[in-house]
Amino acid sequence: MEQRKAVITNLPAAIVRLTLPDAKKRLSEAQAILSSDEHYQATPSRNYGDLDPLDSLAEGMQPCCACGKKPELKLEIPKASQLTGVPPNYVPRSRRWFASCVCGIVGPALKEKHLACGAWNRSGLAIPLAWKDFPFMGVVNLAPDVAKQRLSAIKDDLDLRLQEAYLRLRVGDDNPPGPRFVASLSAYREWALYGLWLLLMRGKTHRNTGVKI
Ligand SMILES: [Zn+2]
Repeated sequence: MEQRKAVITNLPAAIVRLTLPDAKKRLSEAQAILSSDEHYQATPSRNYGDLDPLDSLAEGMQPCCACGKKPELKLEIPKASQLTGVPPNYVPRSRRWFASCVCGIVGPALKEKHLACGAWNRSGLAIPLAWKDFPFMGVVNLAPDVAKQRLSAIKDDLDLRLQEAYLRLRVGDDNPPGPRFVASLSAYREWALYGLWLLLMRGKTHRNTGVKI
């Protein structure tokens, strides 16, 4: 029960704000798309890879650009500058997860550990992962435009599956998705976003390290 409560606390604000009838309507719309032939055909795979994206969070953290060390993920009260969408004079009062390096560099602060890991990797403060080492979704040996297409389609499917899971929690489904399942979908989504980010940066020189991606 405690765990289930934790996930409900982490529901996106846009889902929490929905009225119950609206949430039910959105849920049946999402389920209709998920079970459609079109969506099935547009989704290349749900086999994302052998690694568990939650158990491998520490390995997935990229080293800090400034000092080359791997930061740790900490749950502390962040600075306003680590939050998005808040004014500079905002005083954070809630603890958030963020990457914290021994050299003093800190990453974006978020409600969940795996989101803080993904945001750190894409922040420009981390050394980019070599494409050959990208561990998920079978994209390493694909041509960049094919890899991009595959990751985009996998991300679209994950967006929809996550939305369906959040909506089921919002409407009080009798058999709600478990916290770990929801967090795994979200963590895989972070990796799809990171892969797309690496493809976008491909051929460019990383502004902090001078490393060519
Ligand atoms: Zn550092």
